[in-house]
Amino acid sequence: MLIDVHCHLDMCEKPEEILNEAKKKDIMITSAAVNEKTNESLIAWKHPNLKICLGLYPIDGLKCGNDEIDEIINRIRKHRADVWGIGEVGIDYKESVDDEEHERQEKIFRKFVSLAIELDKPIVVHSRKAEEECIEILEELGAKKVIMHCFSGSMKLVDRIINNGWILSIPANVSFSQHFQNVVSRTPLKQLMCETDSPYLSPEKTWPNTPLNVEYSYKKIAEIKKTSLKDVEKELEKNYYSLS
Ligand SMILES: [Zn+2]
Repeated sequence: MLIDVHCHLDMCEKPEEILNEAKKKDIMITSAAVNEKTNESLIAWKHPNLKICLGLYPIDGLKCGNDEIDEIINRIRKHRADVWGIGEVGIDYKESVDDEEHERQEKIFRKFVSLAIELDKPIVVHSRKAEEECIEILEELGAKKVIMHCFSGSMKLVDRIINNGWILSIPANVSFSQHFQNVVSRTPLKQLMCETDSPYLSPEKTWPNTPLNVEYSYKKIAEIKKTSLKDVEKELEKNYYSLS
């Protein structure tokens, strides 16, 4: 089984066709929500090749009051049996400019990290221009089941993630991205997963991307690790189940 550990299936074109194709090709799709609306639509969606992550994207979080955030968290608690992980959550300093917003994002992120620990679920972390800040909060709160999604921080921080025993998920654009090829070289197979972040980050620089393209990440990992595609598939499946 191939696993796309992070994408936004609800934003993709013809998601039902993608799911049918995923079933034929034995691909598990893990779709992440970004706000209350997408949390709701993912909860309602059932398919054998679909797992869901519920959360609140850092920029969407800035539009929510404390009560709304607590409501979202309580709804996730209520649906814990249907939820594979907590995501997409994190901190994004690129799209957020002032200190007040930075502080607010960190406060919300802490709530979701605590939730993931409480529910014993993996947490899928978005950490744009705030890579070290995210790592520090995760370390401080003692998170263990961590997936750093599309991690663009320095190799020093990649080493810190590896030392913490966390997972780095490699997007399909590793086909041309030297940064992600370097991350793969450095990270042991037992700490790698694959993702597409579709409809974003197409491996062929086209729009839209699809979870079916997760194969690009697997192929590149096999090439860099000088092993077979089957071996990568088997190892990453183990990683996935160890988080579940
Ligand atoms: Zn995403």
